[in-house]
Amino acid sequence: MLVWMLSIINGGILVLAALFTYESLREQGPRVPKIGAAGVVFHLVLGTMILLWPAIRIPVAWAFGIGLAGSALFLIPYKKDSRSVKGAPGYLSGDGSNFRSMDERDILFARNRCLVPGTKLYELYYAEHPERKKADDGRRVKGGPLGKPGSIDGSYRPNVSMLASSFELPNMLGQKARVFPESAGAQSTYKAKSKVPPPADMDPAKATRIVKGWARHLGADLVGICRIDPRWAYSHKGEIHYGEWEEWGRKVPKPLPYAVVIATAMDHGMVCTAPHTPSVVESGYNYARGAYITTILAQWFGTMGYKAVAEHNRHYDLVLVPLAIDAGLGELGRHGYLIAQKYGPRVRLFAVQTDMPLIPDKPVDLGAERFCEACLKCAQSCPSRSIPEERQKTVERGLERWKLREETCFDYWGKIGTDCCVCMAVCPFSRPYRSIHKLVKQILRHSELARHLFPHMDNILYGRKWKPRKAFDWMQYPKGANSEEMELRS
Ligand code: SF4
Ligand code: SF4
Repeated sequence: MLVWMLSIINGGILVLAALFTYESLREQGPRVPKIGAAGVVFHLVLGTMILLWPAIRIPVAWAFGIGLAGSALFLIPYKKDSRSVKGAPGYLSGDGSNFRSMDERDILFARNRCLVPGTKLYELYYAEHPERKKADDGRRVKGGPLGKPGSIDGSYRPNVSMLASSFELPNMLGQKARVFPESAGAQSTYKAKSKVPPPADMDPAKATRIVKGWARHLGADLVGICRIDPRWAYSHKGEIHYGEWEEWGRKVPKPLPYAVVIATAMDHGMVCTAPHTPSVVESGYNYARGAYITTILAQWFGTMGYKAVAEHNRHYDLVLVPLAIDAGLGELGRHGYLIAQKYGPRVRLFAVQTDMPLIPDKPVDLGAERFCEACLKCAQSCPSRSIPEERQKTVERGLERWKLREETCFDYWGKIGTDCCVCMAVCPFSRPYRSIHKLVKQILRHSELARHLFPHMDNILYGRKWKPRKAFDWMQYPKGANSEEMELRS
């Protein structure tokens, strides 16, 4: 009897070790496949000894008993003290009275694109923000926040062209972002005959089901709905893409009541080449996916008789991370990205505002905040040391969080010519949502012990430092131009 019990338990552990090894090999993990393989060999030997050497059965039974009793500690539920369950307002400091909305004119990309030296806007802006002028001018000379695109890989033309071609789609669609019932589907053969279609009379629960199903069918990997908290809207417009210069500095219109928030998942293999060109190609491709999905959704709301605004990288009225938290898509990570359900930070975010009544989702607690306190992988792998390593968060604009030092992060982007993505790639939550990682994420959602213990186990198994993985062979870039990313570390 004992021999069979021990063999079954040992067999179960053996299967887990084999699964772990298989997943690690698929992910090209630097050291984990060896650890997994050692586990497989150990349990094969142990299984043989259990069968052939009776004297070992009692000590093994004790060892398994202690192990199982230890595992039972994972059943202790987590303390419901995470700020994420309150949604994005959980990240406000104090009573929230010192919160200040973000001004799009202050975004580094907007500054680079819209403040052209010698123009009135340029003089106006830097008269108010002289502290930003020198660094911004320096970036302009180098070609903007991405510097010379793809320079880390010798600006390998096929990859840089994939990036440029992907970004063309949001460029084409940005002017169609704001949709009114009277103009929706204007060029469609299937436009309703009446001039202004009356709003469809929809039960909110049914409308929500349709919207989520349609968004997923269009290619969204995660969809959530929230009521729009006006605090997450930009205060003033700062990005001008289509020559509408009179809009610069105007107040952003009051948001519509609801947002459908969408995440598209980036391919793990592409992201893990970070900071090389395949990772930025994957970012560009996902920006195109988001622009496509949100434009169709916004037009759909319009033809249903409601107002809508597509939020993608050629049109933002809203700041998307807090919106995604409110819509139950995930939590805020140490690196400032959303840690999304299933995909971790390996997502790009989009949204559609609408006045069609919908049923909002609830914020979620994935265990990420507690995990981040001990993990530190992104901070210690960041080539520009832009992610804080301290346990304590800081307060800025009335938000209490780990605050990314954006200026040094973007300077690194400019140096390598990609959007880096190292912090996204190294994050344990980014690993593929399969077998062993799926199990770990489920345990994290429910167990207090796992939130404290798993970051340390992860650091032992996977290490703290990032090593880029090989690109798919069809994206292989010339070797030799790849060492400059290490320079900033010295
Ligand atoms: S790498 Fe670690 S510390 Fe950084 S966001 Fe991911 S879990 Fe948090
Ligand atoms: S994108 Fe790169 S440079 Fe920027 S914070 Fe992440 S790891 Fe650091």
